[in-house]
This record gives sequence, C-alpha cells and structure tokens, in this order.
Amino acid sequence: MDLTFSEEETEFRDELRAWLDANHPGEEPVGDENAEFAWRVEWQRRLNEGGWAGVHWPVEYGGRGATLMQSAIFFEELGRSRSPLPGNGLGLLLAGPTIMAWGTDEQKDRYLNPILSAEEIWCQGFSEPEAGSDLASLKTKAVRDGDDWVINGQKVWTSAAQWSKWCMLVARTDFDAPKHKGLSYFLMDMEQEGVQVRPLKQMTGGSEFNELFIEDARIPHDNLVGGEGNGWMVALTTLMNERSGLAFFLQVRTRQLLEDLFGYANESGKIHDPCVADKLAGFYTRAEVLRLTAYRGLTQIERYGQPGPEGALTKWMWSSLNQDVTQYAADLIGPEAVTSDSHWSYELMRARGNTIEGGTSEILKNIVAERVLGLPRK
Ligand SMILES: Cc1cc2nc3c(=O)[nH]c(=O)nc-3n(C[C@H](O)[C@H](O)[C@H](O)COP(=O)(O)OP(=O)(O)OC[C@H]3O[C@@H](n4cnc5c(N)ncnc54)[C@H](O)[C@@H]3O)c2cc1C
Repeated sequence: MDLTFSEEETEFRDELRAWLDANHPGEEPVGDENAEFAWRVEWQRRLNEGGWAGVHWPVEYGGRGATLMQSAIFFEELGRSRSPLPGNGLGLLLAGPTIMAWGTDEQKDRYLNPILSAEEIWCQGFSEPEAGSDLASLKTKAVRDGDDWVINGQKVWTSAAQWSKWCMLVARTDFDAPKHKGLSYFLMDMEQEGVQVRPLKQMTGGSEFNELFIEDARIPHDNLVGGEGNGWMVALTTLMNERSGLAFFLQVRTRQLLEDLFGYANESGKIHDPCVADKLAGFYTRAEVLRLTAYRGLTQIERYGQPGPEGALTKWMWSSLNQDVTQYAADLIGPEAVTSDSHWSYELMRARGNTIEGGTSEILKNIVAERVLGLPRK
C-alpha cells in the first residue's frame, strides 16, 4: 500500500483542517457524564451538517463516500485538532455498516439517516452474564408471536444504553439448533416498558455501561436483520467493524494522551533523563507502528469490501499501548496523577477495560494466530 498522500488526499486534508479550525467545539464539559455525552452528540450534529459525520459511508446512504485513505486522514485530523469523537460512535461504526451490509432497503431508509445526524443513538446488546468471549452461547430468547418477536433475557456491559433509542440485539430464536445457528439479529426499540436499563458504576466513577433487563419486550418482525437463524453471521459483521474501527477511532485518543505526556515531560524537564526519553520514544514508535498497521488493514477492506480478522491485531496493539502509556504517565507524574482532579486518574482506570472491550486480548490473539497467521488450533 502506498502511504504517500495523492494531490486529492492532500486537498481533502486541507479542506477538513480548515473546517475543523472554524468549527471546533471548544473545551469538553468535565464532571457530568450526561452533559459530556450531550456535548459529543451536538458535535456529531455539527459534523453532519458540514458533511463530515459519515465520512466513510457511501454517498447513497448520506455519507461523504470518502476513500478508506481519506477516512483514515479524517480520524488523524480529529486527533491532531484535539476534536472529540462523535457521540453516536456505535451507530456510525457498528450499526450503520451492519445495516448497510445486511439490512433491507426499508431498514436502510429508516435507520441510516438518524444515525448520521445523531438523532437516534445506538447501543450494542451482545454480551450477557454467561456469554462474553463465547458469545454464541447467549441465552436471551426471542419467540415469534404474530408479526412480532417477544424477547426475554439479560444483557450486560451495554455501553451508552442509557442514552440509546435503538439496540443491536442478538437473541436465540432456535434452542434446538447448534449454538451458532440458532441466533438472530434484531433492531430493538429501547423505549418500551419491557426494557429496563440499569447503569453500572465503574471504578472511574462514571457509568458508561449498563445492565439491560428485558422482559416481554416486543420487536416487529420487520426489524429482523439478515433473516432468521443468521444472527451469527450478521453479528460477525458488527464485530469486525468494531475491532478495525476501534483501533482507528481510539488510536486518535491515545496519540492525544501521548502528546500530553510529552508536554508534561518537556515542561517538567524530565525529558532530559535518558531513561524517560527512551521510554517515550518507545511509545511514539509503537503508536506509529499501530497507525501504519491500521493503514495496512485498509488494503484488506479495499480488497474484500469488509474488514477482515486483521482488525483483531490493531485492536490488541492499541489496547496494550493505551494501558502502557497511561500507567507510565502515572509513574512519571507521581501521586498528583491519581488525584481526582487529574484527567490521568480517569485515563489510567478507564484503560483497564481496553483489553476486555470489543474482545479480550486472549481471544484476539487466538484470532490473529488462527485466521491471520494460519497457525494450527492446537
Ligand atoms: C468498557 C467495556 C465496554 C463494553 N461494551 C460492551 C457493549 O457495548 N456491548 C456488549 O455487548 N458488550 C460490551 N462489553 C463486554 C465485552 O465484550 C466482554 O466483556 C468481553 O467480550 C469478554 O467477555 P466476559 O467479560 O464475559 O469475559 P469472559 O468471556 O468470561 O472471559 C474471562 C477471561 O477468560 C479469557 N478467555 C475466555 N475464553 C477464552 C479462550 N477461548 N481462550 C483464552 N482465554 C479465554 C478471557 O480472555 C478473559 O480473560 C464491554 C466491556 C467493557 C470492558
């Protein structure tokens, strides 16, 4: 893959830079999760009005139809300008591409546009108390009742559910079929009595994810995606978009943290300690390797139209880098880094979940070994 920008890509970057300079949303509100989320939703609305929300989405679905390279430039420029990530991230990165790949024309017409404008927020109802890595063993049940499906079960770790209108829900529709074959994929309206959302308190002090208790919730048959019994294949599309997207989306944040750490090391003079300089150079190199590996993954998407298992590698690399950077920041800055008014204390604690969310590192290593490197299973 040629990583030199073409004239067109340079123009795209310059236009975006000018737009970001003129439209930057300013400082993030601190200390109130609801206000912070509303601020990121507002930011996505502004991006959408400027035609920048669905950069990687095809024009026919309201996106900009950018090439993959331009999409990569988009995320890099967001990072460079220290702009926030859009509020409806799960809609943009997961629900939208899944509906584009598997949805009916009616589903595309109905759901895609409000994802872009952030009028309807999305969450991902996959994990359950007894089904995380082994997702296919999930037990939430969907039973057909006339034109509806009736849903009963429990989901957990459902990020952003407290703000969501829609949920990508995987449920079991056939209890006799082999476990991967008995699943179906639904678009569930969260605003109904049968769906109770209970935020979980995290060690960061925030509650970004939730438990979902689903009791006789109803989903119209029209909201089934990809056909009955095909939920595993549809869910894989969501997961592959999640892993490749997460690495691109979130490496932006890691680079900002690294920049902050370089800033601190410079201001405090600690950068002159060769051990510190060596460590920081190591992080910088890893961030560059991650960026270039994520770019290489684009070649796969160009070839097959969908992200492949390589996304597992970048997601694993990103999570380990983010944990190492935040831990080193705490070591270097010392006790002030872990007081409640330092953003490093949040970053340090939040990073613990990075090697779990979107697939644990052990699972991702298995995927890289078997599906990228072609190593034997045992
Ligand atoms: C911040 C955060 C946000 C999340 N957001 C969402 C969300 O929005 N929606 C959603 O559906 N889920 C979400 N999750 C859940 C996440 O996908 C699961 O936590 C993850 O898949 C792991 O499942 P588990 O927690 O049940 O752990 P388990 O699957 O029980 O794993 C426990 C341990 O065993 C290891 N292990 C399991 N199987 C194997 C194996 N075959 N080989 C080697 N090791 C193995 C794991 O690596 C792990 O260390 C989120 C999680 C976090 C931390």
